[in-house]
Amino acid sequence: MAENPDNRQIILLVVWDGLRPDMITAERTPFLYRMAQQGVFCRANHAVFPTATRINSAALTTGCYPGQHGIVDNELYIPSIDAQQAVSCADWTFLQKLADLEGGRLLDVPTLGEVLQGAGKKMVSVGSGSPGTTYLTDPTITGPVVNWATAWPHSAKAEIERRYGSFLSLEATSAERNQFIFQVLQDYLMPEYQPDLIRIWLTEPDHSQHQHGLASPEVVAILADLDQHFERFWGDLEERYGQENLTCFLLSDHGFTTISKRVDPDQALVEAGFKASPTSNDIVRTSNSFYLTGSAQDRLGDIVRFLQGEPWVGALFLRDDLLEACPEMMPQSAVFGNHRRSSEIMFAYQWSAAENAHGIPGYTIDASSMAATHGSASPYAINNTLVVWGKGIKQGAVSTVPCSIIDLAPTILHLFEIKPPREMVGRFLYELLEEGPLPEALVVTQDTWEATYQTAAGLRHQIATYSKVGGYRYLDQVRLSP
Ligand SMILES: [Zn+2]
Repeated sequence: MAENPDNRQIILLVVWDGLRPDMITAERTPFLYRMAQQGVFCRANHAVFPTATRINSAALTTGCYPGQHGIVDNELYIPSIDAQQAVSCADWTFLQKLADLEGGRLLDVPTLGEVLQGAGKKMVSVGSGSPGTTYLTDPTITGPVVNWATAWPHSAKAEIERRYGSFLSLEATSAERNQFIFQVLQDYLMPEYQPDLIRIWLTEPDHSQHQHGLASPEVVAILADLDQHFERFWGDLEERYGQENLTCFLLSDHGFTTISKRVDPDQALVEAGFKASPTSNDIVRTSNSFYLTGSAQDRLGDIVRFLQGEPWVGALFLRDDLLEACPEMMPQSAVFGNHRRSSEIMFAYQWSAAENAHGIPGYTIDASSMAATHGSASPYAINNTLVVWGKGIKQGAVSTVPCSIIDLAPTILHLFEIKPPREMVGRFLYELLEEGPLPEALVVTQDTWEATYQTAAGLRHQIATYSKVGGYRYLDQVRLSP
């Protein structure tokens, strides 16, 4: 315990990108399975919609929904930065430009790092995913933030270059990226900064699931590696800080689904006469958004009615200020996503509960050529992992109380005895704590929000389902009837 003579509590906030809770088994991930048995396995955790990485990275950082933090999609269309196309939030220089454009702030609400800093606590953050995802863990750089490609602030970047020669190139594998960030964390950041909160974002199993599919042999091998690596890392933490002082929140940023069928929404819009060409900027499509520009804005109602009839569309949400034009539509606020950066129309692809070749349920239609993906409003994409163990946490419990990625920032602040700012809308997960109520003692209810669309083939019903506890609502899924 050389690095923790005062026995202070040290909290870990760890993301395994895209890890589905049903991937955690005694065979696939023995260490994580054991930790889930020792602590609390939260079976009803929720990612925010759209179920994509950068959106959820910002939700974890702020304890807020996209409608408050403003990263409403994995790519954003900001005409004054690029009028021709949307830019990926994986590109941190774009995020910085966006912040500069809007007076210096990328996220509209306080971040976990800022609140901790204000209370005299220290956070360090490392990530092996895209630089943008890592940057979103602490965009005002309240402590060192290290990615495999770069680091912030400049002094940390210079020190890493001095110690290790250079950052990694684009060709580096995900295993090399993980290795790099763990090395920097363990050899440099932990002894140098004496953090109270350690944030780690691992890019797997997301990367290999996209490429090879859920529970494929390649993914099973990656999960075993990750599990062993993390077990060794946990052993190091116990030696440095003392097992009795550690609390770990291990989660994923979203679930995952197998791609059943490919569609080309841009081509469909061209053929229907709404878009001049697949790359024209009259309608700019991102993962879950259609941004309308110029005369396309005047055709909003026609475009909405066309999308309502398309079989690959699994959900549609209209920006709230446009509802008068299409009152039958479900507003973006129904999925907590209405923001000034939001597109006119948000959408999700149609999904089903069918099983893949390895018996894993959850299919989606998608535009990409990958084996599997996320982003839909299916329960398989929304339900994400949350396993919590260590100091202050109940032992050997399974919780089916609904909770969300936005609940972790306020819960961690409570553990540090810091009052969360009022902007943090997430719930304090009191039922996880030793002194908190039993999860099964909490009353959970459900409700729905329904919209009906008149199409050439008949009526289609869009139903959003929520679970509720203690005045908090969680989006479980959105279904659009065929
Ligand atoms: Zn992800």
